[in-house]
Amino acid sequence: MVFRRYPDMLWHCIGLFALAGGVSLYSIALARATHSPTSLWLANGIMLGLLVRRPLAETWPLLMAGFLGFVTAKQILGDPLLTTLALGLCHAGEALLVSVAIRRRFPVIGPQTRFLALARVGLISAFIGCGLCALAIAAMQHFWPAREFFTSFNTLFRSHFLGMVIAGSTSLVVVTKDWRRSEPGGTPWRLIRDLLLMAVIACVVFSVSRVPLLFLVYPPLLLLVFRHRFAGMVIGLAIIALITTATTMLNIGPFNLVAGTTAAMRVVMAQVFIGASCLVALPVVLALAEQDRLQARVRESELRYRMLADNSGDLVMRIRPNGDRQYVSPSVKELLGWEVDDFMHPRPDLIHPDDRQRITQVVTELRAQGGAVTATYRLQHKRGHYLWIEAFARLVASPDDDGSMEIIYTGRDVTARVLAEQALMESQAQLQTIADNVPAVIARIDMSEHYTYVNRFVEQVSGESPEAMVGKTIKEVRGNRLYEQLKSYLRRAYAGESVMFEYEANYRGHLLQFQAHYVPDRGADGRVRGLYALTTEITHIKNVERELLRLAHQDSLTGLANRRYFHERVSLVLRQAAQFNMPVLLALVDIDNFKSINDSHGHATGDMVLAEVGQCLQRLVREGEMVARIGGDEFVVLCSDIGTEDNAQAFLHSLWERLHMAVAVGTGTVEVRMSIGAAMCHGTVSVDVLMKLADEALYAAKEAGRDTYRLLIRNLHSSESAAEAIYKPGQSGL
Ligand code: GH3
Ligand code: MG
Repeated sequence: MVFRRYPDMLWHCIGLFALAGGVSLYSIALARATHSPTSLWLANGIMLGLLVRRPLAETWPLLMAGFLGFVTAKQILGDPLLTTLALGLCHAGEALLVSVAIRRRFPVIGPQTRFLALARVGLISAFIGCGLCALAIAAMQHFWPAREFFTSFNTLFRSHFLGMVIAGSTSLVVVTKDWRRSEPGGTPWRLIRDLLLMAVIACVVFSVSRVPLLFLVYPPLLLLVFRHRFAGMVIGLAIIALITTATTMLNIGPFNLVAGTTAAMRVVMAQVFIGASCLVALPVVLALAEQDRLQARVRESELRYRMLADNSGDLVMRIRPNGDRQYVSPSVKELLGWEVDDFMHPRPDLIHPDDRQRITQVVTELRAQGGAVTATYRLQHKRGHYLWIEAFARLVASPDDDGSMEIIYTGRDVTARVLAEQALMESQAQLQTIADNVPAVIARIDMSEHYTYVNRFVEQVSGESPEAMVGKTIKEVRGNRLYEQLKSYLRRAYAGESVMFEYEANYRGHLLQFQAHYVPDRGADGRVRGLYALTTEITHIKNVERELLRLAHQDSLTGLANRRYFHERVSLVLRQAAQFNMPVLLALVDIDNFKSINDSHGHATGDMVLAEVGQCLQRLVREGEMVARIGGDEFVVLCSDIGTEDNAQAFLHSLWERLHMAVAVGTGTVEVRMSIGAAMCHGTVSVDVLMKLADEALYAAKEAGRDTYRLLIRNLHSSESAAEAIYKPGQSGL
């Protein structure tokens, strides 16, 4: 199952079995051959390197492989199986304990791992793990084969701890393939060469039994550490440890120079030497590893930011105090067409002449005051045209740590935006000009009834300046009375309705007429956020309208109502009369022989006569009566509240008498006489019928020899024609 999931696991197990078995066999056999205690127990450290790479649940095949390797080695040497199994369990337990402690703190071991912390955890857990294992084995061996507990524990602990440190680190380096990164730019051959040098020097040092040359081991070890970091240290230490233990156990080497020592003491000395070598190399390698890690992080972050700057579309520069550029991003080519080299020195010549002085001042101020600035200016493209650049610059301490300040500059092409802004400003100015010169007051009013905009035309209407109005409420500007008039329309516009209305207002002593159009101003969400008021002064239009109305209704010669107005009015009067059941009197007045007046005195005199007759008629009619000129010399009088027939006849008689007039013409006078035909009706009657009856009566008056009147009375409530009667001058009653 585990093997299927991790195909390399099988090879690791086989390798571990062979290695643990081989190393165990070598260590035990060497110790037995030299009758000395085991100086270096490497098998558990080899297991550790593989165990820390796997999750706990998947470590059992490796544990089993290491265990079996050890058991096999012991079996080859002919040791009893039971104690072998017990010892194997102790060894496996030691490796497991240390690996679990490391894995808990460092689930993944890689280049980013803080090796100082890893070393601390590793050493502490190895100390505890080896201590417990040595304790267990020493306790067992105390009973069988009855060894002295403390001596046994002491020897076991030292050999296990040393072996764990050396073999654990070595196997970890090998398994994580850290040796590949041993030296920046280095090759495996160089590592092998330096290891060979180390091995040769160690062999020389430990083969010479006459002179103590132990110190000679350190230079090649430190060379390995400096050049190959962890790989150099652990493999170098492993070589030293192997050569030291092997030679010491074989009674060769510098430790034999110490007089009167036993094999056990020499083993202790060898272990102390290996431990001292570890102490020399370990701090150095840890410090170097930490330095490498930090340098890698700096490089990585530098690389990241460099990549940002290099690939940004913006122009990024680091500018030194003298103006030279420490860095110019390659985007300068894409942005401005220039090569990076063209931009490594100050290029004031590329700044638009109109902007040059301003930018020089900005840079001077930035250098003097520090902080950051933003400036928009024109830079010349290599092809000659200018681009608008929005630059952000900040004065910062140089990262080169030379105490100088440099400017970090970021510039981006904002030509499209600037041109759009300019076009917008131009169109706004145009709109402003149009709005200010339009012959109407244009205002924007917000929801709290404050003016937010008023065009300049308002000065011509009310004499107020837009500046004085903006910010004030309608009530403040227009006063309470006018505000009351406008209030309802404002409410309707705020409710979303477009309203048009007319109103009057007094400005500078003149009563002026206005037409206003309130249009709701809706935001992007469709909600009303104010209103636009378009107000036009229509006083002169109203005057013209009134004049036109007057002309349309009035006879220009006599000033009386004309035929058209008469017809408009007469229907209304007849309807009202019928409604209130009042009789109506309509009298047609026609000048007798007017043609001959025209003929004998001229048309102008005729006009004068017509005007005189008109004025006379105007004077004669009372309120509620109406007089109009409906033809050449024909006039009409309409009375809607004439009352009785006697009243009608009296009125008619009086009219006829008063219309006897003498119009002064030049030195003489013209005698004017009239014929009047009138009709009086009760009940509902149409204009045409009434006119027809009056016309009949006029005809009758003319037929009777002119200068007379006839009154035709028709009672439309009675069905018979007997209801009809004719009045003549001098007659009274029916
Ligand atoms: P009658 O007694 O039958 O009414 O005789 P008349 O001469 O008055 O005849 P009529 O009423 O038919 O003639 C009206 C004349 O009025 C005809 C025309 O030349 C004249 N007239 C019409 N309009 C004007 C006007 O505006 N000015 C002047 N001066 N004359 C007008
Ligand atoms: Mg006439």
